[in-house]
Amino acid sequence: MSKTAILPRKDLFHLPDGLIYLDGNSLGPLPRSASERVAKTVSSEWGDHLITGWNVDGWMEQPSRIGNRIAKLVGASDATVVLGDTLSIKVYQALSSALSMKPDRKVILSDTGNFPTDLYMAQGLVSQLSDGHELKLCEPENVLEAIDENVAVVMLTHVDYRTGRMHDMETITRAAHRAGAVMIWDLAHSAGAVPVNLEAVGCEFAVGCTYKYLNGGPGAPAFIYIRKDLADDVRPALCGWLGHDSPFAFEQSYRPAKAIERMRVGTPPVLQMAALDAALDAWDGVSMDDIRAASVELCELFINEAGRRCPQLQLASPRKSELRGSQVSFAFEEGYAVIQALVARKVIGDFRAPDLMRFGFTPLYIDREDVLKACDILEEIMRDKIWDEEKYKKKQAVT
Ligand SMILES: *Cc1c(COP(=O)(O)O)cnc(C)c1O
Repeated sequence: MSKTAILPRKDLFHLPDGLIYLDGNSLGPLPRSASERVAKTVSSEWGDHLITGWNVDGWMEQPSRIGNRIAKLVGASDATVVLGDTLSIKVYQALSSALSMKPDRKVILSDTGNFPTDLYMAQGLVSQLSDGHELKLCEPENVLEAIDENVAVVMLTHVDYRTGRMHDMETITRAAHRAGAVMIWDLAHSAGAVPVNLEAVGCEFAVGCTYKYLNGGPGAPAFIYIRKDLADDVRPALCGWLGHDSPFAFEQSYRPAKAIERMRVGTPPVLQMAALDAALDAWDGVSMDDIRAASVELCELFINEAGRRCPQLQLASPRKSELRGSQVSFAFEEGYAVIQALVARKVIGDFRAPDLMRFGFTPLYIDREDVLKACDILEEIMRDKIWDEEKYKKKQAVT
């Protein structure tokens, strides 16, 4: 099937009239099936079945059953991915387990393009361990040179949240392994955005969130992957009862569950899981290669049109599509005000300090016509300096 035959699938989403949503890289829109599923889970499962829902409605299996659906989108096999908690927690779990695999090494290597929470979680873990560990940061361009035999763990985010710059997962993972280090990839801006093949890459751990390109809704659970051959030996950092081998035996001592199940912690967020499960239906019959081809086409169109019509804007994303994820960023000193003016005209992008305007391209519900319309509005805002109005410069808490 050609990609134009199946994409976009706008009818699957609730998109407010006249709105062009270029922020699915931050929070995906509401899939219609998710509101129906959540309503049903609330009324007939929680409402009518009460505590029996854990058995009759399969609530207890949600984290691994939905994990298998995510696994398909990131090149992993069944029983290697589990859902729960937030991405910050999953980063902590992966990093802590990874460090315990390299007791003689003390360096965690990451880059300056990583998302702050990943770095903060690493800093917190280092100080908690009090065992001489150190978080070392290099520039994203210099990762390969920075990997040496002191590095215990290389922890990177595949696609940069600000610029969309994309690391070469295979080359970096190979270099990490050659140096004897453990590799963790954060797929926050990759899952549902670009093709990823975790099993071919061979990294030990991967983590990611589901409220961005996977449209699981605000607060949707995160995921964690462990390479199959390691999962039974990995030492979990957060020993919660649902990661125990036999939670309902209520034993006094912790024994890790089999394989990836040990990365579960406590009670799963059943309503959020229901929303995510329904949201994932939008991916049925779509391959990540179809998504990627359409995404590259939309990003190229936006770069060319916005670049040509708005010469004041500086492209902050890599120009080559092979080096870019599914978002495009432009730098402009008054970028915050430009984004506010766009939002007032129903084009939703977002802003990242100090001067980046970000636009996410999500072929499930964005097409060429949306991109061209967004460019018309951006052009008008730039040409007529509409952004210069005082009301667009007032900063809000969430940008
Ligand atoms: C979005 C994002 C997060 C968010 O973490 P939460 O715990 O879900 O709030 C973390 N890391 C990266 C790389 C992200 O892009």
